[in-house]
Amino acid sequence: MKIAVLGSLNMDLVAHVHHLPQPGETIISSRFQTIPGGKGANQAVAAARLGAKVRMIGKVGGDSYGEQLLEGLAEAGIDTEGIEREGTTGMALINVSDQGENQIVLVPGANNEVTVAYTAHHHDILTDCDVLLVQLEIPLDTVAYAVQTAHRLGKRIILNPAPAQPLPEEMLRCIDTLTPNETELELLTGMPVKTLPEIEAAAQKLLAKGPGRVIVTLGEKGALLARTDGTLHIPACQVAAIDTTAAGDAFTAAFAVAQSRGMADEEAIRFASKAAAIVVTRHGAQPSLPTLEEVEAFA
Ligand code: ADP
Repeated sequence: MKIAVLGSLNMDLVAHVHHLPQPGETIISSRFQTIPGGKGANQAVAAARLGAKVRMIGKVGGDSYGEQLLEGLAEAGIDTEGIEREGTTGMALINVSDQGENQIVLVPGANNEVTVAYTAHHHDILTDCDVLLVQLEIPLDTVAYAVQTAHRLGKRIILNPAPAQPLPEEMLRCIDTLTPNETELELLTGMPVKTLPEIEAAAQKLLAKGPGRVIVTLGEKGALLARTDGTLHIPACQVAAIDTTAAGDAFTAAFAVAQSRGMADEEAIRFASKAAAIVVTRHGAQPSLPTLEEVEAFA
């Protein structure tokens, strides 16, 4: 099973602070970490650790963060030939307070340079894969181009529509699996998503726009699968969560891997839920992503 991941690579710059700063306030952080992240890179690493053969299309900067991100991907066994270097590496500037609240500023940097022409230049990666995995932290016209191209080539396409933004109708018709969280589902449908029946109704409305299935991730409440033959709620695994960063990325990538290994939807979602549950018990983005052995050993 070969997975092509098109998407972002970011360095997460995490400052731990007593409280989140007010406008104009300067505060001193108690701890600082740089952690490899970015939704594209997280999903690529997640899939590779679960045993998939992964090639990624994206961009990092010519700086040392770019170097570190590339090293992390190579260490996970990912083919990084489709990752060129230009400008500044994408960054997420994250403040986390002692109360666990956060503030995040995304600096797109090189991720904004992942253009249609650049992706067309790496066309062989789209041709070579069985599955295309894509998110929305790169320009939307690039995502649309890759989705259309992969669809024409008969590839299975999984779109994690995050961060939330409106999507062209023709793109939705090419998607096999769409994995929004509740916020993204609300934005994509304009419907309320407070209760499970509301989420079911919204997921069915989104399904009617053309994707093969919609899987709504519901945090600690699990996931909801919507297909034309009905909806199914699959509860989350019970764990003591300490940091939900990259939970959604692990879920989407693990679902892609499970499906490629021949699992039916429900079984694939249970596998993805285990991978995501492990992630929430660990700190950070890429360092928290489990291996296949860890997911299989998870009770
Ligand atoms: P996102 O981070 O994209 O908003 P979610 O918060 O919905 O995604 O989480 C994705 C998946 O991670 C969920 O469907 C669930 O399987 C798992 N998950 C998230 N939070 C928890 C938790 N507290 N306990 C167990 N599993 C969780």
